[in-house]
Amino acid sequence: MKDCPEPGVYKAVPYSDYAEWDALNISSLLWGLMGDGMTVNMRRLKAFLDGEIGHKSSDELRFGRAFHCQLLEPHLFTDEFVVLDLCEKKVNREQPDGSKKQEPCGNAAKYMTADGSPRCGLKGHKPPKAEELEDYVTPAEREMIRRMREAANEHPEVRAIHNRGGSEVCVVADMHGQRCKARLDKFVRSRDGAWIVDIKTIDPKKLHRDGWSKAIDSHNYHVKAAFYIDIVAAVLGRRPEFLWVACGKGEGFDAAPFAPHPTDILQGRGIYTELLSAYGAATATGKWPGAFPAGSTGGPEVIARPAYAISRLKTLYGA
Ligand SMILES: [Zn+2]
Repeated sequence: MKDCPEPGVYKAVPYSDYAEWDALNISSLLWGLMGDGMTVNMRRLKAFLDGEIGHKSSDELRFGRAFHCQLLEPHLFTDEFVVLDLCEKKVNREQPDGSKKQEPCGNAAKYMTADGSPRCGLKGHKPPKAEELEDYVTPAEREMIRRMREAANEHPEVRAIHNRGGSEVCVVADMHGQRCKARLDKFVRSRDGAWIVDIKTIDPKKLHRDGWSKAIDSHNYHVKAAFYIDIVAAVLGRRPEFLWVACGKGEGFDAAPFAPHPTDILQGRGIYTELLSAYGAATATGKWPGAFPAGSTGGPEVIARPAYAISRLKTLYGA
């Protein structure tokens, strides 16, 4: 961890530097919240902060970076991402007539030889001493990203942000006694206010009102939105607008801009505030309580089956 800069807005900070800033971000903080959205668990947050649980696969992160770049900073894409083709290592392959012929391997490549030939990770194909390229896309991913971007750009709200504001903008502020940080997909400031834009991917089958509504709840997007709104408000002294761009990832490509409901923002604020104060108490005392701290109730908690399961059998066995 490195010292976090003073409260403010910071542009053009490499992700690796931002990640090292000693401050809390909302994705980390949410590791302290359990499934039902009401159970605070500092032991789990500690396990995340210590690197014991919850790391996204490098493929997921890489795809996310590439998609964000293509949607928000398309002019940088060709500088930052290599489109890797299929592995060109020649292999002996049996032909229908039983003869053998040398053909390119054809697996999706992840590496490149010193002279620029794409290679997969198979033994003998992977170039000696090669490190996996950090920023690459396969031709299939490139096509997926292109179609996702096309669907998103049909919306005037998305087109309107292309040439304005900054991408991957970092914000630092003190909230409820804790140094907090955020990295905003897009941050636009103008004379009439400020906008935060958060890009999310979703299974296209779930990109309908109910589906997005459930996605907000199950991924705590409302808590993140409230945190982003408040950290920007803490720095600017005025409340920004907030927009999600939900992008379907996969066949049936579609996208939609959504604004959060005020009630969800209020509840989201309540949740992150509680998490911050639990975190403050944990760091001050050195105690990181789990979901059910010993001695917090006067005996074991009485717990029933879910309401739907109980009502199903009510007519048979009574209340
Ligand atoms: Zn290969």
